[in-house]
Amino acid sequence: MREKILIIEDEKELISGLKLNLDFEGYTVISALDGEEGLKRALNEAPDLILLDIMLPKKDGLDVCRELRQRNVTTPIIMLTAKGDEVDKVVGLEIGADDYVTKPFGIKELLARIKAQLRRDNREERRAPSVFRFDDVEIDFIHFKIRRKGRELDLTSMEVAILKHFVAHRGEVVTREDLLDRIWGHEKYPSTRTIDNHILKLRKKIEEDPDASKVIFSVYGEGYRFMGGV
Ligand code: CA
Repeated sequence: MREKILIIEDEKELISGLKLNLDFEGYTVISALDGEEGLKRALNEAPDLILLDIMLPKKDGLDVCRELRQRNVTTPIIMLTAKGDEVDKVVGLEIGADDYVTKPFGIKELLARIKAQLRRDNREERRAPSVFRFDDVEIDFIHFKIRRKGRELDLTSMEVAILKHFVAHRGEVVTREDLLDRIWGHEKYPSTRTIDNHILKLRKKIEEDPDASKVIFSVYGEGYRFMGGV
């Protein structure tokens, strides 16, 4: 599937140059010439990445970025900043932009940044298969089931989200903060205790002996390490 990039930029020539290059690289490109239109397209057309100019008519890039993040849109945003916009760069990153490039930029540099952001954003989905098997366990991410030794148990959507994250990062330490960030989002943090409760229930479903975990290890003071299939 072609990934979709939204360019919000009021310099028409820059847009057409970018369109040409990004299209050649295999991306679908949509664009907006002002901040209001850009915000609308960002919300309605689900781009995979946004290139966002700062100085824009109607609504500036910083406001667009802020509003998207306030609405829990997590699409990667690369700010296009002009030389001397040092302050804007810092503010941009503070309000949730993921990266920035300074104009005039080379297309190669921009492409590298775009690829890095898309990779970061898609890593989990790409690495998480629809069914994940290890030992005698089968996790079915499509039907929200877990099967072990001929026994089938239901998974909650929260458990599925946690397991997807674990599988994508198997063998690595996953902190409680990672899980909070990834699954609950930045705005509505539950307590870390909530996470521990979910893990407790997951262990009962996934482990041979929940009191002697062999799949979801606790890493003292950090979080967890998922060892299924490692
Ligand atoms: Ca501009």
